[in-house]
Amino acid sequence: TTTIWDTIAAELNGIEIITDPTQLAKLSLDYYHFSPILEAQLKDKRGNLVVRPATEAEVMQVAKTCVKHKVPLTVRGAGTGNYGQCIPLEGGVILDTTKMNQIRWIKPGLACVEPGVRMAAFDKQAREIGWELRMAPSTYRTATIGGFIGGGSVGMGSITYGQLRDRGNLRALRVVTLEDEPRVIQLRGDEVQKVNHAYGTNGIITELEIPLAPAYPWAEIIVAFDEFMTAAQFGQALSDSDGIVKKMVSIHAWPIPSYFAALQSYLPQGKHCALLMVSETDLEPLQELVREYGGEITYNKTAQEASKGTSILEFTWNHTTLHARSVDPNLTYLQTFYFTLDRVEHMYHHFGDELAIHLEFLRFGGKAIPAGLQLFRFTTEERLNEIIRYHEENGTGIANPHTYILEDGGRKTIDPEQLAFKKLVDPYGLMNPGKMRAWSQMTND
Ligand code: FAD
Repeated sequence: TTTIWDTIAAELNGIEIITDPTQLAKLSLDYYHFSPILEAQLKDKRGNLVVRPATEAEVMQVAKTCVKHKVPLTVRGAGTGNYGQCIPLEGGVILDTTKMNQIRWIKPGLACVEPGVRMAAFDKQAREIGWELRMAPSTYRTATIGGFIGGGSVGMGSITYGQLRDRGNLRALRVVTLEDEPRVIQLRGDEVQKVNHAYGTNGIITELEIPLAPAYPWAEIIVAFDEFMTAAQFGQALSDSDGIVKKMVSIHAWPIPSYFAALQSYLPQGKHCALLMVSETDLEPLQELVREYGGEITYNKTAQEASKGTSILEFTWNHTTLHARSVDPNLTYLQTFYFTLDRVEHMYHHFGDELAIHLEFLRFGGKAIPAGLQLFRFTTEERLNEIIRYHEENGTGIANPHTYILEDGGRKTIDPEQLAFKKLVDPYGLMNPGKMRAWSQMTND
């Protein structure tokens, strides 16, 4: 008997299609399992068919077929998201963008790319003319630019350029709609926010214009400290040092350094540490700052040396959680805007050993602030919610990584602009169904 999926596959003749169950299972999931809550909710979700279009015209063909048969369509980049962003809750077609990996053009300060371009591969090209992405997640080597826009938010570079959502960090998009007759919509300037970080619920991005940053020779440095709060104060001071060019300021309370197996010889027992990316031309002022805070530099790689091995980037941001979980799979994490060091200190003392603090500094509204991806051993959902509540009651902002609902993770409120755009481009609600609360509420009422 032929199924609807056979029919769809036949209609998409000429486009690469994957139906092998093992591959389908792999391409249905992401890194949702960092959360025990999401693990239970999402592990069995599967798409029915993966398609790999290579051009915008093929994307339009896929869109048209999905609309014709009214089947769900979920876009997937590299599938490295942490909240099940690209996991198809209701099955259907998975549109994998990794074949759409053309760089259209790169000029000083700006580039235009297809969504499936991997970030590290892009930078390799851009650095030939002295430029690079303004910011990138620690999954930089594998993650796609489209996936970062669809589901990511910050990373290395954010200490200078802020978050993806900040005006200017995304310039223009081409988006394919899921109307009866799919079309391409071009968005420029503030209009890109209609689709920025919408988990692929309101249009398939087929091209992006992104701003670039000057590419410095980034040295990679580790500094050890006796006291956690001294390490945190050093992190703030470096972040505030406008005369020292940097790309990453990442602070880890003991025992987190003990989870970094490959770096053990640079991480003294019991010490707290800073993992840094600083322009190698600025090492002298950095060393003076380290001295002022009584730190000890234990690792210092030039940009050239750093480009050969594993970058320390892959111990920071949510890679910290990855390493921690490889030592103890019961560890999970939170994402917190502390805004001030006073709050960091308060939480450090309040939670004691229950929470291991990991800070990433980033620019927020023009100021450098500490954000965190704290680690803790998961016990119950109730305790998790208590920890979140305590943080919120004390003025920190939590971006909850234990939900797959767009609005519940980040901003906590519905985004009327994104909802309005979804009504326009996805009138049948086929795109990544179940992820946008505003849409679910509207259609259930
Ligand atoms: P995917 O996971 O494939 O997709 C993400 C979302 O975007 C999905 O909702 C998908 O539907 C949508 N999407 C993808 N392509 C399109 C398109 N063309 N059109 C419309 N929607 C689309 N994130 C950070 O922000 N900062 C970090 O530092 C960071 N560190 C991480 C570390 C680890 C170890 C892991 C596992 C994850 C980390 N992440 C981080 C999360 C994730 O890796 C990044 O956000 C990454 O940029 C996602 O890219 P991707 O290609 O894997 O996207």
